[in-house]
Amino acid sequence: MKVYTLGGYEEVGRNMTALEFKGKVLILDMGVRIDRVMIGEDTNIQAMPIKELDRLGAIPDVTPLKGKKIVGVVVSHGHLDHIGAVSRMARKYKCPVVGRPYPLKLIASMMKEERKKFENPLFELHDSSITLGPFEIEMMPVTHSIPQSSFIIVHTPEGDVLFTGDYKLDEHQILQKPLSFPKLKKLDIRLLIIDSTNVMNEGITPSERVARTMISDYMHMIEDSNAGIVTTTFSSQVERISAIIREAENIGRKPVLIGNSLCKYYGLALEAGIVDTKVQMVRRRDAAMATLKEINANKEKYMILTTGSQGEPEAMLARMTDRKTPFFFEKDDNVVFSASIIPNPLNKASRYKLETKLKMQGANLVKNLHVSGHASREEHRKIIKTLSPEYVLPCHGFPDMLISMAELCNEEGYDVGKHVIVKRNGQSFDI
Ligand SMILES: [Zn+2]
Repeated sequence: MKVYTLGGYEEVGRNMTALEFKGKVLILDMGVRIDRVMIGEDTNIQAMPIKELDRLGAIPDVTPLKGKKIVGVVVSHGHLDHIGAVSRMARKYKCPVVGRPYPLKLIASMMKEERKKFENPLFELHDSSITLGPFEIEMMPVTHSIPQSSFIIVHTPEGDVLFTGDYKLDEHQILQKPLSFPKLKKLDIRLLIIDSTNVMNEGITPSERVARTMISDYMHMIEDSNAGIVTTTFSSQVERISAIIREAENIGRKPVLIGNSLCKYYGLALEAGIVDTKVQMVRRRDAAMATLKEINANKEKYMILTTGSQGEPEAMLARMTDRKTPFFFEKDDNVVFSASIIPNPLNKASRYKLETKLKMQGANLVKNLHVSGHASREEHRKIIKTLSPEYVLPCHGFPDMLISMAELCNEEGYDVGKHVIVKRNGQSFDI
């Protein structure tokens, strides 16, 4: 078996790995690198020519797969750095795309936005497995920061491969049960391909329950206030969005979701039966104006949940701050950031600008009511110890993260270079 490391092996983003057995290839994830797209003039990935995305280094380079038979694309979860290139790149292979229902719904909605014919069948996997060429694929649900994230298990004639995608070991999420360790212990894994994003964080990543409690505590602090409350988080963080909606209701305010991407992710989660609390969702910009006018006149009755946690200039929060909408921040209004800043210079600058403007208008800023969705060092150690795989391939990270994962494996008795394989984009190795 040959393993191709195509994307995410020298960066956080555009994840793509491929397995080849006797000329048949299975692709694991196919993502975009968002920061590269944002540097371009147009941020709409769907509208950008594929050559331009390639030139920017925003999508994986698939040259090593040229002329090979692609039997399928399997996706671990619905974040854009794992599925963002599927609708653009899988078309030419005409192969099935396999995943759990929620990420597939997101892919289907991207295809719709592109308005181009997409002939690839979409296969939803629940507790079942599917065979594509020499590969038998199973999904194993795991906690992360978007619904229906999974470990992908691939049974191959050369042994079993486990691809973690992104994960954290969280015992206290509401929408996703914890990873099943009894099931994990039964596996006999030859190759573990493991997310390295937060491996340099010592200890464990705090549970989603911590974020939930911080939000709840703050909302109760301002329960008696008549001022405005505007919250923002990542649009795909449905678990968090649900928690914020519950807290709004707990303090007697009506939650309103404003912004296209936020409504898209929450709407699809409703459609998939992942959440069941229906809320007012305002997707279109013109409709948002009327809603914001009503809220501005009755701030004490509502809690706004909106897009723009990174300070993106075109997102709703920045537009509200720039007084481009009929909602006006005034002294003692509360702006709650339930998100971290994705650390690239562009985001840092945008957030700085946004926060300064909000403060000038007298708003109270509450930052970092947030926990990460990526496992820290001790969680990775637990997975490596439990599976005790023959080979480990660190993925999803800049070189320092991949090397730190290799060091962790070394602490667990692995020979780096022999049984721990550190690669860069565009390389391959045999097992
Ligand atoms: Zn993710």
